[in-house]
Amino acid sequence: MNRPGGPRCDPKRVFELADGELPPEEGREVLDHLDRCPSCKKLYMEELELSACMGGLEVGETPSVCREVAMALPTRLMGARVLWAGLAVVLLVAVSVALSLDGTNPAAFVLDSVGAFWGFVSGLAEVAEAFLVAAGPALLVALGVGAVLDLLIAGVVFSVSRRRAREA
Ligand SMILES: [Zn+2]
Repeated sequence: MNRPGGPRCDPKRVFELADGELPPEEGREVLDHLDRCPSCKKLYMEELELSACMGGLEVGETPSVCREVAMALPTRLMGARVLWAGLAVVLLVAVSVALSLDGTNPAAFVLDSVGAFWGFVSGLAEVAEAFLVAAGPALLVALGVGAVLDLLIAGVVFSVSRRRAREA
């Protein structure tokens, strides 16, 4: 690859040139080589694209896109969704804790192996199970009602925005 006196392939220097870390004189040598060597030229262009891409990310292109998306979402609907999602997570956790009370469940085995925490955890699990038995059906109903309400709100927002669009 490295012929004395001839053009030399040096990927490290190609990367350094693309990152702008090479002194001007060495940079000119590498650029000379790039003119004659397609494979190093390809490497150089790829590295340039890569650093441009990473530079864009650092400057904050993605956060600005996220901000636009977040601003485009109707915040009230978002709030309702987050609320019901939170309830769903609570329900899921309660169900998992209740399942871990079953001796054949792998989760119970894991809890067993923790040993020192078992008493504490099982105490918590009993409380959670009692809570689930008492509040589980109510939570499920609340979740269902919430989903219907969410749909109703979405429908109202949709029809209002359509009427506004027609009036405008
Ligand atoms: Zn080369």
